[in-house]
Amino acid sequence: MTELTWECSCGQIEYCNLPPEECSSCFKIDSFTQLPEELLVEREKDMAEEQLEMSLTEKKSAKSKVKKPGRKKKK
Ligand SMILES: [Zn+2]
Repeated sequence: MTELTWECSCGQIEYCNLPPEECSSCFKIDSFTQLPEELLVEREKDMAEEQLEMSLTEKKSAKSKVKKPGRKKKK
């Protein structure tokens, strides 16, 4: 049983195997970052993140505005 540690951008901490989809504190979607506890898992996260990003892109097109406001296009 490996429980990972996830931290929301609002500071909420969750312990579970998978990243929480929604923060129970600020209700942001996919705002959790895995705390660098285990480097091995970090790799998996990288891959998972790519997949997440893809599925998120789909969600975004449906919801238009979702999370982080730091999404300016600089180029
Ligand atoms: Zn939160």
